[in-house]
Amino acid sequence: MNDEMLPVTLEDPMQFNCSADNPCFNQCCRDLNQALTPYDVLRMKNAVNLPSGQFLQKYTARHTGPGSGLPVLTFKPNPATGHACPFVTDSGCFIYKDRPGSCRMYPLARAVAKDRRTGEKVEYFALIEEEHCKGFGAQGGKTVAQWLKGQDVVDHNTENDKILELISLKNQIRPGQLEGAEEDIFYMALYDLDNFRIQIEEKGLLASLDLPKGSVEKIVTDDLSLLNFGIAWVKYQLFGKDLEI
Ligand code: SF4
Ligand code: SF4
Repeated sequence: MNDEMLPVTLEDPMQFNCSADNPCFNQCCRDLNQALTPYDVLRMKNAVNLPSGQFLQKYTARHTGPGSGLPVLTFKPNPATGHACPFVTDSGCFIYKDRPGSCRMYPLARAVAKDRRTGEKVEYFALIEEEHCKGFGAQGGKTVAQWLKGQDVVDHNTENDKILELISLKNQIRPGQLEGAEEDIFYMALYDLDNFRIQIEEKGLLASLDLPKGSVEKIVTDDLSLLNFGIAWVKYQLFGKDLEI
């Protein structure tokens, strides 16, 4: 059987059930090639209680998008385990509560477009049926919408959509390759949040902007505020947009 893509709606029955009883249990976590988003990294580095720099060095590989010059992160392959996820265990995912968005969505693919008339976000879904995965055809008694709710994926999709918007902006304003130093700015502000915080708090990164003290304190208070500021700062720094805080 070849991999198949079947468009589905939120109201369709989800003909899929993943279970530890399936003979393929964990196989999907043992041969990975998934891109990690900034929000994925934020959740995982906090789950294993590591500063972003240490997490990134230990668990991720950094690539450069060939057409865009944007950083692309994946899990780091391990000579002993190949492309297996560093967090897969015999009994399941070690960081299940904080697993990446793509792990939550699997085997659904999701695309987002703006309705031309209303400007509202419209989601499209498809089931990707891969040969190694034996969960297909099972009747879990849920619709696609109910299954998605069980994956607790809304926060990931919300934050990841902001990165898609940023990439779309980049492609409009700066098609083609970013310079290496610009790629580093993008990487630090979005993926290496604890370093970004140090640059703001200790190295005066924002000093020339003369922001109100209270605003800066709010930005560095928690990782999600910092990530959202990072997106705004990248838009300002690299793509000439007004700084929205
Ligand atoms: S391969 Fe499919 S059914 Fe098997 S554990 Fe992974 S997601 Fe579940
Ligand atoms: S993070 Fe968890 S669910 Fe995702 S690939 Fe790794 S072990 Fe599997």
